[in-house]
Amino acid sequence: MPDDATTLAELKTAVARFSDERDWAVFHGAKDLAIGVVTEAAELLEVFRFQPEAAVDARMTEPDIRRRVESELADVFFFVLRLAQRYDIDLSAAFARKLALNAERYPVDKARGSNRKYTEL
Ligand SMILES: [Mg+2]
Repeated sequence: MPDDATTLAELKTAVARFSDERDWAVFHGAKDLAIGVVTEAAELLEVFRFQPEAAVDARMTEPDIRRRVESELADVFFFVLRLAQRYDIDLSAAFARKLALNAERYPVDKARGSNRKYTEL
């Protein structure tokens, strides 16, 4: 299922099937799915804990680090997809709305090369 040949709808269906086969709907309310997003994101951060900033990009080329990052990203994505699937959230539409909002918040002429929050531009 490569990115360029897979739709979000297909991934939502796969997540629903995986969860339904295990009768996990009872565990997959909005609160617990949101907790899943954050706890898996914390596991992603753990890959980089105590690593000096200058070493992080180089570590991303190490196969074992890359596998851990891919694994934790997939865990985060599972919970994102499951939350969207369970509560009928159109992720593509939500993402497009957010990207448009952020384009307004971060106009290129003010935000280019800046890491300041939109309220400080
Ligand atoms: Mg994990």
